Amino acid sequence: MDNKGYVMSGVSLLLILPAILLLAVFLDMTNEGIGENTRVISSGSVLNTVKDLEAHIMVAGKEILKSEADGVMNSGKPLSDSRATIKDDLQFVMDQKVQNYKENMGMELDCNITSVGNSEDPFAVQINSTIYVEKGNITHLEHISQDIPITDPRYPIPNPLPFIKCKEYGGTQVVDDKICFGPSLAYYLDKRGVANAFAYQNSTTAFIIKKCPYDPYKMHGNNNNTLKNCIDNGYFHESADGPCFLCRLEGKGTCIHYGMETFIVPSSSTNTSVNCSNSSENFTYNTAPSSIDHVIFDDIYNGTYQGDMVIYHINGFEILFIYLENAHRSKYGFLTI
Ligand SMILES: [Zn+2]
Ligand SMILES: [Zn+2]
Repeated sequence: MDNKGYVMSGVSLLLILPAILLLAVFLDMTNEGIGENTRVISSGSVLNTVKDLEAHIMVAGKEILKSEADGVMNSGKPLSDSRATIKDDLQFVMDQKVQNYKENMGMELDCNITSVGNSEDPFAVQINSTIYVEKGNITHLEHISQDIPITDPRYPIPNPLPFIKCKEYGGTQVVDDKICFGPSLAYYLDKRGVANAFAYQNSTTAFIIKKCPYDPYKMHGNNNNTLKNCIDNGYFHESADGPCFLCRLEGKGTCIHYGMETFIVPSSSTNTSVNCSNSSENFTYNTAPSSIDHVIFDDIYNGTYQGDMVIYHINGFEILFIYLENAHRSKYGFLTI
């Protein structure tokens, strides 16, 4: 009987043991499950923080690009190193954001703006940064490269170049979303000894940087309205010779980067004679500096070449025209001479 009881308890033990082992494994799994969950939650909040900082760079970047361009517009003074200035501005804003995070979220983090430079797209500025986030035993380091567009209508960015170039010659005025040169551009060109400078008396150019939708650009010469619409809207075009946005902030009329160009439009003429007539204050010539901003503002290499008149719109007695040399005639789809 005793023996039998002993055997029975041995059998019971054998039966119970797996149950105990199973329970132990189950308990361990539950523990691990909780640990895993915590890790998932903190790695989620770490990733959200990285995303949030990335989004903040985008918004702050647009605000800073606009505010630096506005500053140049108002002062007429170029930035000596636009990339360094924008990098410092953005680092300052991100340092504040990081400080807020540290105080409110109990995280260790750092955001380092490593460089500001040209994007492949001339209508964007490239911002490179590294973001480091640490929460509990989760750490995350990410290198980020972002293209900040300069054509977001919520952050309208003025073309800084005319304000710098014409400051010493009487300045410019902004009227109806256009930069009006009054007499200043003609004086600027005349001072440099450029022929037929006075064709640009009372000329106008684009104010806010907007990308031209008439692409391919040869469409501009297709009919009477395309170039007129482009000029009325103040559009900009990609250009290998035109200065990039960052160099425009430094007052450079040309630069080595892939950049942009816009038209500078002589004052319209009344339909009398287009041959060296002087109607009121406006001079009209058959030939004058080509109406492309990087040609007009190429004062470093004195590369302001002449173009022939292209009449693009006639409205009753009013003739609208620009001057273009053959390379730009071909680019915009006008007959070459
Ligand atoms: Zn256009
Ligand atoms: Zn440049």
